[in-house]
Amino acid sequence: MEKAVVVFSGGQDSTTCLFWALEKYDEVEVVTFDYNQRHNEEIKVAKEIAEDLNVKHHVLDMSILSQLAPNALTRDDIEVKDGENGELPSTFVPGRNLMFLSFATILAKQIGAKHIVTGVCETDFSGYPDCRDVFIKSLNVTLNLSMDDQFVIHTPLMWLDKAETWELADQLHAFEYIREQTLTCYHGVRGDGCRECPSCKLRQNGLDIYLKQREEVNS
Ligand SMILES: [Zn+2]
Repeated sequence: MEKAVVVFSGGQDSTTCLFWALEKYDEVEVVTFDYNQRHNEEIKVAKEIAEDLNVKHHVLDMSILSQLAPNALTRDDIEVKDGENGELPSTFVPGRNLMFLSFATILAKQIGAKHIVTGVCETDFSGYPDCRDVFIKSLNVTLNLSMDDQFVIHTPLMWLDKAETWELADQLHAFEYIREQTLTCYHGVRGDGCRECPSCKLRQNGLDIYLKQREEVNS
């Protein structure tokens, strides 16, 4: 009996991870972190998807994060923009994945899950140091030492670009579902989103590339 916890936001990446986990493990639960996201819509979407897919949904209060790192995702008065001149984007919350994965693993311990799945990705590396593979491996060792256990943190998207993440969704027979139901947009628009914000542009660009590739293969 193999059980997994998926770190889940209701976005494209974590929903792809959820489908991946559902195929791989006997039992899957998801955890969403509530840290005053720009849109409470995110929590609502996550809840709906968890219900749709019939998985238990945990929502943990992480509002402390907005106290520590007021930024564009957590405060309405700061604009979302891309990082310029090598600076981090304005959506950056320092140490966010460190916090999320640590709490997800404590939850895993409580519910008897050995596997923790997260959609972090080094390919679209936008300066988030705690998305890097080396960090995840280091944290995995630390968490195992801290709880004297043998957790395994899985990162199915680590080396994929956005087009390849769409391809994985398709392989998992979840392409349409993820395209229509997930929320990636900074402005809280589901599916293909507002098409204007950095997150929508990244998602759409990957989708365009993947759809073109799929067309070529099928023709
Ligand atoms: Zn958008």
